[in-house]
Amino acid sequence: MLLCDFHIHTKYSDGSLDMRKVIDIFGQSGFDVISITDHVVNGDNSMGKFAHRFKLSVTAKNFENYIQTIKQEAERAWDKYEMLVIPGVEISKNHLTADKSAHLLIIDIKEFIPACMSIEAILIEAKNQGAVTVACHPHYLSEALNKNTLYLWNNRDKYSRYIDAWEIGNRNDLFNVVSLKKYAFIANSDFHKAGHIYSWKTLLRCSKDTEAIKRCIRDNRGVAITLFRN
Ligand code: ZN
Ligand code: ZN
Repeated sequence: MLLCDFHIHTKYSDGSLDMRKVIDIFGQSGFDVISITDHVVNGDNSMGKFAHRFKLSVTAKNFENYIQTIKQEAERAWDKYEMLVIPGVEISKNHLTADKSAHLLIIDIKEFIPACMSIEAILIEAKNQGAVTVACHPHYLSEALNKNTLYLWNNRDKYSRYIDAWEIGNRNDLFNVVSLKKYAFIANSDFHKAGHIYSWKTLLRCSKDTEAIKRCIRDNRGVAITLFRN
């Protein structure tokens, strides 16, 4: 099966490492497929404005540069490690209360999608681009942290028909509720620094090809998760 991680941040948002370094860490660890998914944060409230001010978000302005850098690194990763690298983003709608925040991976994105659009509009646009949509980490930590991202889960009856898969594992956490609902699932590191490579991962039984991988995630056949430890 292919060893995969579809949730990875670099210095293009709040990751601590350059993209090149991230690619080398995953390549040297034997990964078959990864997706780089830096945050695209909503700029329509104070939390979002903070993220934009401190360059913790990919923006409409640097999106092309971001995608080109991923494509260059993807070529290098293929030549050096036979590792497939897929361009993605994590649309991050951050609000101060847990029940409003939502994080959404868009894997194989082609054009910029602003995070201040409605969730429905974002999901439809992602679908039009042929991308895979993954609802991230239904975390509840405390009212004070923007890691609380319950909106999609709490409104799953409304959105699940647009969502290709749910993140059943994120770093060291498992969200059993995803399997109880029998939703399609994947598990990822939410990589921000080197140590995060040791975390939940996805295994896929399909060929090492972007279209086959997207199909495998959507159909949720031949999908497993594994805890990757040193
Ligand atoms: Zn997130
Ligand atoms: Zn993330």
